[in-house]
Amino acid sequence: MKPFGYYDLLEAFPERGCPLCRLLARDKQQYLELLIFEYTMDVEINANFQAARGLCSAHAAEFMAIQMSATSIAKLYGGVIEETLALLDGLIESGGHKLGGRWRRKRAVGKAAAEALEPNAPCPCCHSLNVREADYAQIAAQSLHEPSFRDAFAASEGFCLPHLERILRSADSDSARFLMTTQRRIWAQMRADLNMFVAKQDPRFGALPTDNEARSWRRALESISGMAGIFGLRGR
Ligand SMILES: [Zn+2]
Ligand SMILES: [Zn+2]
Repeated sequence: MKPFGYYDLLEAFPERGCPLCRLLARDKQQYLELLIFEYTMDVEINANFQAARGLCSAHAAEFMAIQMSATSIAKLYGGVIEETLALLDGLIESGGHKLGGRWRRKRAVGKAAAEALEPNAPCPCCHSLNVREADYAQIAAQSLHEPSFRDAFAASEGFCLPHLERILRSADSDSARFLMTTQRRIWAQMRADLNMFVAKQDPRFGALPTDNEARSWRRALESISGMAGIFGLRGR
């Protein structure tokens, strides 16, 4: 039996962009929707959400953009603000006296308060994606022994640089060599498309960019930095 995610990966190869980014974009959407419709009342999720001081700003912006998220945001972030108020109350009340002379030193009060207020856990969405990403990278590395999996990868637009790096870490030497030579061919073609895209901005060139050349700058950006919202602002 194939491990979880194997067929997802195979199906993602013919799509545009990095297959891992594509799967994680789907997982991210599912996570945020579950956060709205199922997790709002979950005590453990709420405690974790408070410890993380909410989502990283990249995932918070996406959470806000999901329809029907207003009430869930009010509840989840209301909990974070409640926790922050309690922390501030404790800090203001103690006024640093409990720590004696150390608190009276210059900037000691602010420093201790900042430490108390900083998150104790990564962004829950980043964390969930990290776990999934490790699974996918492991499956990809193991499956590169199979000719059909190699063919599917070779016909794809390749992995983004951060995901290539993660898969290489789990791959054996034979698979790593195949990964590098195949990805090199994909990026060499991308470089040529980028060059032609830039050259054809000059009307004297006398030709319009092809489809691949026209979207080469988007492909290059995602191929080096990863798809939007896949690599959050903290939690890595
Ligand atoms: Zn990727
Ligand atoms: Zn995040």
